[in-house]
Amino acid sequence: MRPVENLVQRLNARRSGQGWKANCPAHDDHVPSLSIKEGADGRVLLKCFAGCSTDSVLAAIELKARDLFPVIQVTAKKPEKRRKAQNEQQGQKR
Ligand SMILES: [Zn+2]
Repeated sequence: MRPVENLVQRLNARRSGQGWKANCPAHDDHVPSLSIKEGADGRVLLKCFAGCSTDSVLAAIELKARDLFPVIQVTAKKPEKRRKAQNEQQGQKR
């Protein structure tokens, strides 16, 4: 899931132009004051038009600043040599 999708879900945001709009969780919001956009690099751009800081918005939905940034997925796999253990003697009974 992209970070912006996470935010959109948590804030129940609605699509608006290039981004989304949501009721700001950091103040008593009756009209959607919070603009959510996705930056070119995948990061989330938050803007409350009532003036809430990004930090307070994040705190209200229990996210951290790092949740605004895409997770860099390391896909490189370690070459894993699976050696068959020589456990074939376990069938022996005495
Ligand atoms: Zn606000």
